[in-house]
Order: sequence, then structure tokens, then C-alpha cells
Amino acid sequence: MKKVIAIDGPAGAGKSTLAKRVAQRLGYIYIDTGAMYRSVAWKVLQTFGSDNFTDEDIAAAAYNLTVALTYENGSQRIAVDGVDVSEAIRTPAVTSVVSRVAAIGQVREKMVDLQKKMAADGGVIMDGRDIASKVLPNADVKIFLTASIEERANRRYKELREKGFAVDLTKLQEEIAARDKADSEREESPLVQVPEAILLDTTNMNLNEAEAAIVKLVE
Ligand code: C5P
Repeated sequence: MKKVIAIDGPAGAGKSTLAKRVAQRLGYIYIDTGAMYRSVAWKVLQTFGSDNFTDEDIAAAAYNLTVALTYENGSQRIAVDGVDVSEAIRTPAVTSVVSRVAAIGQVREKMVDLQKKMAADGGVIMDGRDIASKVLPNADVKIFLTASIEERANRRYKELREKGFAVDLTKLQEEIAARDKADSEREESPLVQVPEAILLDTTNMNLNEAEAAIVKLVE
């Protein structure tokens, strides 16, 4: 029987990379909820420019857009109003506003509703911040994935450098810490480790070790 797996944790903990690998290995569907909030942030930036919008503007943008997740050769693509934004949502500009966008209640309501529908048939592994606490409280497996802030910043640094972005490691670490703080302290569905979630600290694990640890928990 295929299960429902919830993975939560702070930024850069390796949630997406690991969830993708485990999904492929077990034949599950991977749902990246961060990508959905990033899509709303992308739309807000497209519409209003970098800092010229109110919370009402964000809520209206979310209300009016359609987000569609599709799968191509096992990897997730995401489209906003029919435009593929899978790469565009990973830029530092989107990252810098996404936590503000994700803190708005109307945005979360719409995304959580979609996420619940996508998981309804089971066989999914979903990652985010509020998956075990809010989106899938009945998940069969709940994992809280984390790593030290230094390690998380190092991993993001390498990832962004590989994509050709000029980034500064110290600044990146500050940005990650700020995003974690915003995500953990917001009123609507903050990032929390629910009591029944299993803590997996990957600071000293490589990808294969972390993947094996998750598969073992699932099985
Ligand atoms: O996972 P990722 O780092 O791409 O998520 C981007 C942002 O989206 C997070 O920093 C957080 O503000 C928001 N998010 C959220 N709830 C989720 C997933 C992501 O609020 N379930």
C-alpha cells in the first residue's frame, strides 16, 4: 500500500532533492509546495515590480492566478496562468519576497486547498513548512528534515553557483536565517516540528545516506 509522506523543515535542508529521489525510488508522486508559493511570488513581481505592492495586492494576485503542476519524465514542472515558471521561480529575486507572500492567509488557503486535493489519492511525498501540521495531518510518515545553518548555506551556495548566480556565502546565510525566522514566527501556519514527526538532521550525511534513512522510515 502506498503511503502519504510529509516532509517539513527549514530552507536549504535538502527537502526537495531528497523527496524527489525517494519519490523516484518508491514510485511516488513528489509535490513541492515551496514551488507553489514561489509561483505566487513570481506573479506578484511580474505584476508590481520588486517592492511596490501591498498585502491586498498579494491576496488579489493569488486569487486570480491558476497554478498547475505537471510531471515530465518524473520531474515536476510548474505553470502560472499557462506560463512555465519552473526555472523562473528559483531566482534570488523570487526567494527574497516569497516568505512575505507565503505569510498571507488568502494565499495559503488557496494553496493548501490545492495541495490537499493533489494528495487525496495517496502515494505522494510532499515537502514544505506546514505539511504535517496543516496540509496532511493524517500523513502516514512525518519527517522534520534539518541541518546546521552553515551546512544549509553551503549547499545553497553550490547550487546557485552551478546555476550561474553570483552569490556571497555570508549574505546567503543571513538570507536563509531571515527566511527561517519569518517562516517560523508568522501567524498563519508557521514552520513547526509536530510532536509525532521524526527528526532527521542531515548535517553530517551525504545524499545517499539521507535518502536511505528516509526510505527506511517509510518502509
Ligand atoms: O521550500 P522553498 O524554500 O522553495 O519554499 C519557499 C518559501 O515558501 C518558504 O521560505 C516559505 O516562506 C514558503 N513555504 C510555505 N509553506 C510551505 C512551503 C513553502 O510557507 N508549505
